[in-house]
Amino acid sequence: MIEIRDLTFRYEKKSAPVLDELSLSLETGKIGVLLGRNGSGKSTLLKVLLGLLKAEKGEVLADSENFFALSPREKAKRIAYVPQELNFGALSVYETVLLGRISRFGLFPGPEDDAAVRNALAMTGLAGFEQRDAGRLSGGEKQKVAIARALAQEANLLLFDEPTGNLDIANERAFLDTVKRLVSEKNITVLAVLHDLNRALSFGDRFFFMKEGRIAFSGGEELFTPELIYEIFDTRVRTETVDGQKIILEV
Ligand code: ADP
Repeated sequence: MIEIRDLTFRYEKKSAPVLDELSLSLETGKIGVLLGRNGSGKSTLLKVLLGLLKAEKGEVLADSENFFALSPREKAKRIAYVPQELNFGALSVYETVLLGRISRFGLFPGPEDDAAVRNALAMTGLAGFEQRDAGRLSGGEKQKVAIARALAQEANLLLFDEPTGNLDIANERAFLDTVKRLVSEKNITVLAVLHDLNRALSFGDRFFFMKEGRIAFSGGEELFTPELIYEIFDTRVRTETVDGQKIILEV
């Protein structure tokens, strides 16, 4: 269970808060999706959770442990981040994924690190890619490397910031399906920023709609009503159910 309580953050001392006493809780093994208009504070929230920005107030508890009191190394064991833009350096796929374990090994990686890397590569369909140059892979393959790195890290909380932005529809679907499968197999927790409402609906278990630095609405797919979408995005939509799945259509 991850619990965020009364988190407040501002970029400049006297400016308005970008996160304004924000609270949310997400059960272990669930996929939470953060939704909201540009500028509502989604990326800032991820950065505060990652420790890249320091909250002025509030706390984050991960399985009752105070997140902000952990050392960077301890935090790196628990939390993995898959960003929007993947810029891998001149490293092989194997080395890139091994970097995910840097908080776990001392000076040199050992056999358990090798095993974790190979396992992560197998789970993401990257066995055989070990020696390929990570920087030269396609967008979909890079995304898999980022997931493999997060898995090798053995973090139990994965944060995604719009992870499918560069993927075509088939790769996007494959990526989200892989994450969903891994979440249920490994009982990890995911908090993801996604812009596409239909992708969010098929991927997420819990939804957090942000507005002006707060969670305006949280809950399950019942939240996706034309009224709520209008309130958050100022856009008129209608909903339909196709093959048992709710979909959002613009009107
Ligand atoms: P979202 O991810 O929902 O689009 P952000 O967290 O990126 O929103 O931004 C929230 C607000 O914080 C916006 O008003 C944005 O202009 C502001 N902001 C983001 N980054 C900075 C920064 N480095 N310095 C000052 N203001 C920022």
